[in-house]
Amino acid sequence: MEKINIAIVGGGLAGLVSAIHLKKSGLDVTLFEKDAYPNHKVCGEYLSKEILPYLKLLGVDLMDLKPTKIDKLTFSNSSGKTVNTMLPLGGIGVSRYALDHFLFKKALEIGVNIIKTQVNNIQFIKDEFEITTGNNEEVHAKIVLGAFGKRSLLDKKLKRDFISQKSEWLAVKSHYKLDEFPDDLVMLHNFRGGYCGLSKTESGAINVCYLASFKSFKNYKEPTLFKKEVLSKNPHLKMFFEKAVPLFEKELSIAQISFGQKTVIQEHILMLGDAAGLIHPLSGNGMAMAIHSAKIASECVLEHTTKQSFSRELMEKQYQKEWESHFKNRLRTGWILQKILLSPVFSEISQLLISIFPFLLPRIISKTHGKPVE
Ligand SMILES: Cc1cc2nc3c(=O)[nH]c(=O)nc-3n(C[C@H](O)[C@H](O)[C@H](O)COP(=O)(O)OP(=O)(O)OC[C@H]3O[C@@H](n4cnc5c(N)ncnc54)[C@H](O)[C@@H]3O)c2cc1C
Repeated sequence: MEKINIAIVGGGLAGLVSAIHLKKSGLDVTLFEKDAYPNHKVCGEYLSKEILPYLKLLGVDLMDLKPTKIDKLTFSNSSGKTVNTMLPLGGIGVSRYALDHFLFKKALEIGVNIIKTQVNNIQFIKDEFEITTGNNEEVHAKIVLGAFGKRSLLDKKLKRDFISQKSEWLAVKSHYKLDEFPDDLVMLHNFRGGYCGLSKTESGAINVCYLASFKSFKNYKEPTLFKKEVLSKNPHLKMFFEKAVPLFEKELSIAQISFGQKTVIQEHILMLGDAAGLIHPLSGNGMAMAIHSAKIASECVLEHTTKQSFSRELMEKQYQKEWESHFKNRLRTGWILQKILLSPVFSEISQLLISIFPFLLPRIISKTHGKPVE
């Protein structure tokens, strides 16, 4: 049976960044990822700038990917009425295909041990973890970071409460080509039962990603019809779909997206990124939060491994405290924002307020974002 020091389960943004942080700090890290790189992921692909300084300190300069620089937002309600605003901090447009692959290559380059396998179970026994992989191998680890995203078979194995609750959201994503689409703009268009984000990525492709309630989707059964009958009721989306050329043979979709409360620590596993809590995508801040949580967790792990007095219990308490101070309010604001913008009545009122007091929108947006992380 193999014995390792630190295991990271899940090689998305949170997992890869914590692996890079810990390895750069001199620790031995093994990361388990079930999928091969590169691959497309359902995501709005707008990354808030707040985490760029931190990544640069780790030797990861995302500007190498030549992302688009985005500092404008156009928001429309389902009838197409728009509000335009500047984004307080702004962000970059980068595909998950390029971003995750870039981080994966960095991690490999500095010697992170990356194992391509699914983790089927994690148990905490006698102050260490027993990890069972897809090949039915057992690995023992002193510390486990759970970076397995919004929904994984491990959530069931770990008996996490949110997994038994109904989750009514699904999301669909695809890339399109439309030359006239501006580089510096993210569009957020409402439709009945959801909203759709559009922004340009590093390849010039426009990422189109929408979140819809299952209730609104279920009568249409497949995305093409839903796009035609529901999304295209918003004139901006209608015009986009008429002009733009799809670049994917088939759209990617995921279902059962849960915004329910999650535990930040479970069975002594420090949860990172979406595994600790998913912010409503409308805020465009989930990726930055995943990366920021990787930083906080890595710092706690480092203190635990270098200071004898900083026990496992103290490490867990510290991580929980820091996670809550950085993210709890943001998740709540994202939740309120989503409620308002998806309610036809509230959305009309808020749109009217925003058009009278245009400074309100950037203020609301900045409430879902953090300060630059260094
Ligand atoms: C519709 C939608 C749009 C969004 N748009 C944006 C946006 O524009 N901007 C933004 O900042 N955020 C956005 N987000 C949020 C963002 O995508 C997530 O917050 C971010 O991907 C979280 O990263 P992560 O590393 O926690 O999880 P992920 O990136 O999902 O990585 C988890 C990894 O774990 C692996 N894994 C899972 N289970 C196992 C297992 N058992 N064994 C091994 N590996 C496993 C998976 O294969 C995956 O690679 C959006 C989310 C949704 C749903």
